[in-house]
Amino acid sequence: MTAASHRIDTDTLRRGACPSLAAPMQTGDGLLVRLRPVAPALTADDLLALAGLARETGNGLIEITARGNIQLRGLTGASVPRLAQGLAAAGIVPQTGVAIETPALSGIDPSEIADATPMADALRAAIAAAGLTLAPKLAIVVDGGGVLSFADMVADIRLDAIEANESVVWRLAVGGDRETARSVAVLAAESAVDGTMAVVAALAAIGPAARGRDLDVPALAADLPFSPVGRRWPEGSDEGACSPGGVCAPPSSRCRDLLPEGEQEAKSWFKSGLRHPIGKHDIGGHPVLGVAPAYGQVHADRLAALIQGLSACGATEFRLAPHRTLLVRGLSEEGLVAAQEAAEREGFWCTDQAPGRSVSICAGAAGCASASFDTHAAADALVAHAAGLLDGSVDVHISGCPKGCAHPARAAVTLCGTAGGVGLVMNGKASDPALAAVPAEGFMPAIRRLGAFLRNRRAESETAKTLLDRTAPDTIVSAYQGHP
Ligand code: SF4
Repeated sequence: MTAASHRIDTDTLRRGACPSLAAPMQTGDGLLVRLRPVAPALTADDLLALAGLARETGNGLIEITARGNIQLRGLTGASVPRLAQGLAAAGIVPQTGVAIETPALSGIDPSEIADATPMADALRAAIAAAGLTLAPKLAIVVDGGGVLSFADMVADIRLDAIEANESVVWRLAVGGDRETARSVAVLAAESAVDGTMAVVAALAAIGPAARGRDLDVPALAADLPFSPVGRRWPEGSDEGACSPGGVCAPPSSRCRDLLPEGEQEAKSWFKSGLRHPIGKHDIGGHPVLGVAPAYGQVHADRLAALIQGLSACGATEFRLAPHRTLLVRGLSEEGLVAAQEAAEREGFWCTDQAPGRSVSICAGAAGCASASFDTHAAADALVAHAAGLLDGSVDVHISGCPKGCAHPARAAVTLCGTAGGVGLVMNGKASDPALAAVPAEGFMPAIRRLGAFLRNRRAESETAKTLLDRTAPDTIVSAYQGHP
């Protein structure tokens, strides 16, 4: 599908409005709208239009989320319709319905097993036609493999392409990333949508809040209305054993009984190649640069400056990717170097080794009335004084208030604005009780003390995770509070 075919007029957008546009989320800094453009490739004009709309209809703060969505913040009830109109005028169509995610380079990565886009489109159409009520946050991943596969993306339902005897089959699994999801079946391509719809229907039957983890996988596998492929023949059968991923022709209903034995094996069939999207990539002989706004946030003015700078270096296309990344295409080898310098000038990260990559922060005092401190400054302080905590082995969350917008899950370390100051939560959520708090004006010294404490305790080559695991929380609290 071409980018042009995704473009619609204003009336069409009103009829099929994105749930996020239709139901923006109230946060401390006004309304938040989350967008995933239907078009996988965005132009410089698209991104400049988005930056302009973020300024005109919100507070100018733009976020790229961990799943590669765009968030505009600080909107009002009156400005959201103007955003919808502005998007339509710019020809940017937000996805609607259940989130179905495909790798950012689907269809253009020569190393992928299959282009996931047609499968995702067919599945999206089947779900829309079924008219089922599903959990609002249901996530489906269709992963054709490739350099920037979605192996580490947790989803309620996954379809992962597998090479099988010169053809492609799809592993259907639920509730996890590629390693942890529970296998339901391995399906021929022509059965993959129907098989996935059986899982979708099972979720709808459980209830409107059901997620992949709620499914009874053995029962689901047994009830599939057709035979999966790539299973070993039953013990004692005279047909022998199928090769891993092999397609039975025709598939036999007897194969499905042996799913548990095949599950571990199935995981080993996948092509490796998982790579972080930030940094330089060679995709089919063409350079691709992944850049990420520091801590996932950028002001519209800075995004516009970045896009103009990258365009001057030869960039022609931009793709949103997981890990808060923007992929830049169209660069020559020389242009790649210049583009990297331009991105760094605008404060974007160009390497997955960037300090701070494991820190999640919310808008903080710079953009949210609920915040009691400057989360950006706090993250910079962590990078400067407690970098040992940021080796990527643990999640660190800095939240302006207990709402925890940036990281709803638990994190190893959370620094959270509370009525009593900046609280410290270990292995918990922002809403959990803080073990200790320091006044906002005493926060920077507290970070310096914490950094020094961890540096002194750390053994050579020890990860932050191991260090935290073997350190009593009381001693961490004492260092944070400055108690001897
Ligand atoms: S978590 Fe941050 S962005 Fe969310 S409401 Fe609190 S201060 Fe605002």
